[in-house]
Amino acid sequence: MTEHINLFENVNRQFDEAADILEMPPEVRDVLKTPYREVAVALPIRMDDGSLKVFHGYRVQHNGVRGPQKGGIRYHPEVDLDDVRALASLMTWKTAVVNIPFGGAKGGVTCDPSKMSQHELESLTRRYISKISMVLGPTRDIPAPDVNTNAQTMAWVMDEFGRKAGYQPACVTGKPIELGGSQGREAATGKGVAITTREACSARGIPLKGARVVLQGFGNVGSYTAKFLVEMGTKIVAVADHTGGVRKADGLDVAALLDYAKAHKGGVGGFPGGEAFDASTVFAQDCDILIPAALGGVITKANAADVKAKLIVEGANAPTTTGADHILKAMGITVIPDILANAGGVTVSYFEWVQNLQQFFWEEAEVFQKEEKIMVQAFHDVHDKVVKHSCTYRTGAFVLALERVYKANLMRGW
Ligand code: NAD
Repeated sequence: MTEHINLFENVNRQFDEAADILEMPPEVRDVLKTPYREVAVALPIRMDDGSLKVFHGYRVQHNGVRGPQKGGIRYHPEVDLDDVRALASLMTWKTAVVNIPFGGAKGGVTCDPSKMSQHELESLTRRYISKISMVLGPTRDIPAPDVNTNAQTMAWVMDEFGRKAGYQPACVTGKPIELGGSQGREAATGKGVAITTREACSARGIPLKGARVVLQGFGNVGSYTAKFLVEMGTKIVAVADHTGGVRKADGLDVAALLDYAKAHKGGVGGFPGGEAFDASTVFAQDCDILIPAALGGVITKANAADVKAKLIVEGANAPTTTGADHILKAMGITVIPDILANAGGVTVSYFEWVQNLQQFFWEEAEVFQKEEKIMVQAFHDVHDKVVKHSCTYRTGAFVLALERVYKANLMRGW
């Protein structure tokens, strides 16, 4: 079964399922779906071998009605404008689900960081930020890390933005602690995924202790999700990424897997503490809880019927197509959507922005306690919509978000 996957169309179909419940008029849908601003830039970079190469970068600001636009920067060979639109739109709905005062944006550069030196990545980041800086700033649009970008990238973003605007640490989040980053930011998305998994298990009557978890992706989100879920008593029985898959029925040693990945350019393939398996079969592995934590558009009509889990928690953005969603629903599998499950990252980015604006910092325990409160509240706000409208968690989350954004838009005017 082949399925045409356009992530932006996919997000808009998810939007429409909620807009139908709210009986939202077509012209309002049009306004709320359409990005507010899109910037596309060419980035000529002098490579280490002396050649000149042109990269393409994007920043899409989807909606800023509830606050400054907020969203990560992705470096990946498959980045294109429609992907960035989809991810920007998801940020609008995500910040509304957790009720933090931000809108939604996303950035991306089409490149393969695994084939670039640190010097080339720094040049690319500086050129990209310098070309889009007119739409950025602490009250306009605040970038953060995403796939293949990290605290070092955010340090370059802050420095490059500061060349024109002066010292403004609140212009970007996910920075190193030494430059005004927040305690707990690096772990925040994975922590939020784990908290949401715990709440979802409780709502669905799945015992958390001893639950068998399978993960796709073992980068920032996947590895911290694994760490916190093990602390909650689950077993990580399989992990797959772009380098291969590894599984162990009585649970992988997550700390040893992390050490191995660090020593092998982030990859889990070849880890000696488990049995190797074909990474393309990761969604068919036997488990109670499945957590995609890598790229979008991976659970599709073609593989949804193979899923063995009772619960899918979306650590990644947009991992499930709408076609797959309908199959999973018919199979009785609960899907906790990205805009709820992985919102812990943007929540702690919000805390980082607040700390930067006041130049007064919180300890990690305070950050995690505040994150926990917001994530638990968001889960229950969504759960209430699920009960009220007899809908999926995805549609419930979109209903909650659409109501909040629509109300704010009505009050401010179109
Ligand atoms: P990362 O770069 O740290 O890790 C990405 C992971 O994906 C790696 O384990 C990599 O091996 C894996 N991967 C890449 N290509 C793959 C492929 N073809 N098949 C299987 N695995 C593949 O990125 P991250 O920050 O952990 O982000 C992962 C996902 O979570 C993305 O969808 C991102 O948008 C989403 N997300 C991230 C954050 C955050 O704070 N970092 C917040 C919310 C959502």
